[in-house]
Amino acid sequence: PVLVGNLIGEGHVNYVLMYNMLTGIRIAVSRTQAKIKRPLTDEDFTARHKYSFDIIGNELTPSAKYDFKFKDYAPWVFRELREDCFHLDPADYLLSLTAQYILSELGSPGKSGSFFYFSRDYRFIIKTIRHSEHKFLRSILKRYYAHIHANPHTLLSRFYGLHRVKLPRGNKIHFVIMNNLFPAHKDIHESYDLKGSTVGRLYPEERARENPRAVLKDLNWIDRGKELELGPEKRALLTEQLRRDAELLKKLHVMDYSLLVGIHNMRRGNRDNVRRNTLRVFSPPDVHVPPQPHAQGNLHRRRATAASAAGQPHVVRRAVHLNANANLKRVCEGILPEEDTGDRQHFLFYQDEGGIRATDEQNQPLDTVYYLGVIDILTPYGVMKRVENLWKGMSADRRKISPVPPAEYADRFLAFMRAIMRGGGGGAQFKAA
Ligand code: ATP
Ligand code: CA
Ligand code: CA
Repeated sequence: PVLVGNLIGEGHVNYVLMYNMLTGIRIAVSRTQAKIKRPLTDEDFTARHKYSFDIIGNELTPSAKYDFKFKDYAPWVFRELREDCFHLDPADYLLSLTAQYILSELGSPGKSGSFFYFSRDYRFIIKTIRHSEHKFLRSILKRYYAHIHANPHTLLSRFYGLHRVKLPRGNKIHFVIMNNLFPAHKDIHESYDLKGSTVGRLYPEERARENPRAVLKDLNWIDRGKELELGPEKRALLTEQLRRDAELLKKLHVMDYSLLVGIHNMRRGNRDNVRRNTLRVFSPPDVHVPPQPHAQGNLHRRRATAASAAGQPHVVRRAVHLNANANLKRVCEGILPEEDTGDRQHFLFYQDEGGIRATDEQNQPLDTVYYLGVIDILTPYGVMKRVENLWKGMSADRRKISPVPPAEYADRFLAFMRAIMRGGGGGAQFKAA
């Protein structure tokens, strides 16, 4: 079925969570923003500010509908990232997220159990992350920051904030705010999540035909004979930036990330743009929602169970809350920007209609726009991935499975991306024999 991000209205299972997240962001971010800017110090990278919300309120926190605690991590670092590196307008950022308490929930598109929420204008994504990912991001923040600073045109996920909500029962939900690679004002006609791994990296083609918005994988790309149509100039620029970004990920000992590729065909335009009515931005890949993620599970399921035990929100069946949704939709109509606004203009790979336009061998523009970025960059090669490496390596070519050590992962990732650019020879060489 075609999946639509569900607007979260009152009564939705995750309404309280959304309310708490947005209230926390609104208060915490505006408090930091109200202060005079100063140079960053070492302590800023490990700082955390605690807020305690309740229905009465105090001078630090206004009264809220619910009792909860909120932590804002490294607020000065993220402020600097947002303003100086990512060129976000501070007021815009807060308005997009919190002017009205409207998010739409994509549910949990990956296998990890993380939840994804879009800001009402679809510019921002809130992703719930595991405690381990949260700790990891804090531990690498300094190097992430340095990299972003030194690489204004990076393709890595842009992190705008790191926070935690703690509910009265003690559940802790960690989340990041990041860029939505796909623009609200353009149809994405095809999308791919590419790793350079070819074992199990196929989205069933017959399902893809039923659901044209599904996010496809490496083998679909290869079997469809696709290539990234970029002329020599853009090819060189993209390859070099990917190389630098992958180099960092290698040093951070990270793997399992992918290049997300959205393809907009300008001749097709936006005529299938149903978004203005249904607020559909893209369909997630396979939605892995095991009815009850219990016993029979493979590694992934067990990880998902661990995630929910660690306080991730419930895995919710995609129930449509018709009445609440109808009202919210009315509120949302007309708020999606017609044009891409502001920040993307600053970045080499996001400046053509919010993405990068295809070019021919003479570097002349073609009728395709790509939306590219390296996502899911918070998985270090730890115990679980080593086990997966051994396990999957028993039944498949160990060099082609997804969980391989970081250096190998980065090299394969880069080689694959080079191969799928025009003239690179194609990705078929990466297929399992
Ligand atoms: P897993 O660990 O199982 O791969 P995950 O829960 O960590 O899953 P991601 O891999 O980060 O999730 O993302 C899952 C999907 O969500 C991606 O394939 C993509 O379709 C979409 N997505 C993730 N990040 C973004 C982004 N920044 N912009 C647009 N779409 C995104
Ligand atoms: Ca992923
Ligand atoms: Ca992940």
